[in-house]
Amino acid sequence: MSVLVFVEGLNGEIKKSSLEAASYGSQVAQQLGTTATAVAIGEVHEEALARLGEQGISKVLYDADDRLKQFVADAYVKVIAKAAQQESAKVLVFSNSNIGAAVGAKLAVRLQGSLATNVTSLPKTDGGSFTVTRGVFSGKAFADVALTSDVKIIAVKKNSVEITHNAGSAATIEKLSADLTDADFAAAPKDTVMQDTEGGVLLPEAEIVVSGGRGLKGPENWHLVEDLAKALGAATACSKPVSDMDWRPHHEHVGQTGITVSPNLYIAIGISGAIQHLAGVNSSKVIVVINKDPEAPFFKAADYGIVGDAFEVVPKLIEAAKALDK
Ligand code: FAD
Repeated sequence: MSVLVFVEGLNGEIKKSSLEAASYGSQVAQQLGTTATAVAIGEVHEEALARLGEQGISKVLYDADDRLKQFVADAYVKVIAKAAQQESAKVLVFSNSNIGAAVGAKLAVRLQGSLATNVTSLPKTDGGSFTVTRGVFSGKAFADVALTSDVKIIAVKKNSVEITHNAGSAATIEKLSADLTDADFAAAPKDTVMQDTEGGVLLPEAEIVVSGGRGLKGPENWHLVEDLAKALGAATACSKPVSDMDWRPHHEHVGQTGITVSPNLYIAIGISGAIQHLAGVNSSKVIVVINKDPEAPFFKAADYGIVGDAFEVVPKLIEAAKALDK
């Protein structure tokens, strides 16, 4: 029996959220007295795969089928299921990303497993149980759920696990072939268009996000968000009304009905902090809120808050960020 971690790649590297999943999976393996193997799909450099040893992964199975460069749910599920069968894996771990969410339910059906998404804790295994804590109601509450099937599938919430680094440890790499057929790619996307990111930072993967709301009064003031983002090497985002009014493009809208982001730092400028907005940003590691209303609900979710007028505060932050760069 082993623990299997599914890792996602981006531009040849392993995504940060998958490094978190790998660290989580190795700790579960330690708890169960077994080893953690990873399965990687798509385009990832071999050096990046070997480096998974630093997160406690002993072996990486890699399917280099060219058709897997784009995400195709049925094909990915077949590869992960094949790896699980080969390794007799009873615990499967991956990130609660869009791809993770898409494969999780299908895997649970295929492997007759119990699935817990949005997981924030290591399992409690007292007395033969296997219980994890997961965030519910857009992160407003937590629930403990027992995974009772033979196969347990865990999607780890982004930023809820520290990435472990055992310097010098390297994972071995083995090729895996799941004998994919054309039928596995019947529902494949025809093309993938990468978003035009202007500053070069892709919003869902950004480590720092600077986000603006209706408090910025109009699109003519967005240079404040853009200049701060540029000085910090951040991506830009906005609240829903801002994109509804066409101040910003829709692909920047974060929240329940927009993109979910999990950066290390989320800076919210002139955003009230409605629950629908928080749903998309509350797994950020550190949240900084700038709002002139001390009663703004966002302050309750903030790690740091500045009560002040954005038009006075943000230019000072830009200057400070530029000075840091020098
Ligand atoms: P406002 O609520 O108008 O807040 C503006 C804030 O700016 C205020 O707190 C104010 O004090 C502050 N402010 C004003 N002037 C200044 C200044 N000079 N300096 C500093 N601060 C200032 N919203 C999302 O964002 N994402 C979603 O995905 C989303 N999905 C939704 C889904 C549904 C079904 C529904 C019903 C709503 C959804 N909403 C979503 C809308 C959400 O409820 C809020 O209406 C929205 O987030 C408010 O946007 P805002 O904070 O930019 O604007």
